[in-house]
Amino acid sequence: PPVIGVLALQGDTEEHLRVLRGIGATAVPVTDSGRLDQVQGLVLPGGESTTMGKLAVRYGLLEPLRKRIRAGMPAYGTCAGMILLADRIIDGAQGQETVGGIDMTVRRNAFGRQTESFEGAVDIEGLEGGPVDAVFIRAPWVESTGPDVRVLGQTGEGGAAGRIVAVRQGSLLATSFHPELTGDARIHRLFVDIVKGTA
Ligand code: GLN
Repeated sequence: PPVIGVLALQGDTEEHLRVLRGIGATAVPVTDSGRLDQVQGLVLPGGESTTMGKLAVRYGLLEPLRKRIRAGMPAYGTCAGMILLADRIIDGAQGQETVGGIDMTVRRNAFGRQTESFEGAVDIEGLEGGPVDAVFIRAPWVESTGPDVRVLGQTGEGGAAGRIVAVRQGSLLATSFHPELTGDARIHRLFVDIVKGTA
């Protein structure tokens, strides 16, 4: 079975490891490029994208991450991880660097003060069993996407309806929300299937 890495620089690495192991995947934390070489797919967790970016530079991981993703390694980013996978960001910190890979523009902390954190049902294209209970924590949304990006989910009724919060481009997957926090492993299963080449 494939080995799935979870970037372990900062953020909710442990929660992703737990969900992945819970569905029978082999999951390991990734803190250096040696470990990165050993995984067939990588989860980029939620947390603080500027901090994660800085730590990736400090630990010599930014270029190796870019290289692996350019070479086709499947990756799944949640929240801050989504920001890291974006080719372009709006409202990033001064000089904020991303890993990139998904041809999209992501707006950081997009939902604003009143809805800094909220939960809502989001339908995900191709996912059986009804909408996911999506938890947003100072979450980004996807402002625009290039032609190769498939929009998988948008926010429903309410203050900020119709915002793109789940996307896929080839074997790269990203969500604004945190399925690792809700006990619903369907999106992680989808990612494992992407890594196996069956989805
Ligand atoms: N607001 C954070 C950032 O910009 C992301 C928050 C999260 O991952 N829950 O990096």
